[in-house]
Amino acid sequence: MAERSEHLERFLADHDAPCPGCGYNLRGLEGDQCPECGERLELRIGMADPKLSQFIGGLIGLAAGLGFHGLFLIWVGYVAAVGTFSMWDALPPLVVGLVVSSAALFAWTGLRARMRRLPLSRRRLLVFVCWAWSIGSVLWFFASLR
Ligand SMILES: [Zn+2]
Repeated sequence: MAERSEHLERFLADHDAPCPGCGYNLRGLEGDQCPECGERLELRIGMADPKLSQFIGGLIGLAAGLGFHGLFLIWVGYVAAVGTFSMWDALPPLVVGLVVSSAALFAWTGLRARMRRLPLSRRRLLVFVCWAWSIGSVLWFFASLR
């Protein structure tokens, strides 16, 4: 038996712990597989309070902008295809909004660990920038409509 599995078994010998996959109580588990859902398990160190509010706040801000620009871009394409009226002036803010929001979302998730090391005031500022970008780019889109 691998050493990692030994630590897990030793811990679960006298602790109640739910399986992170299915919630089954793993107390007394032998091996490293949940008997209920079959997922492999390992003993890890976790944060007592992950403090995800800034990360999630920024993620929602950027995802809201991305969703808005993506859906309106589809709508502008549909309107252009049907030919009811032209909305080409709205294209630049939508395309720029979609590209920048996508890149920012990738950066936000990719640099998550680095951002956690920033002071709280900096992280709050970044969340504000995420929301300001999304709201600003949506306002740019509406301003481009004639
Ligand atoms: Zn399970």
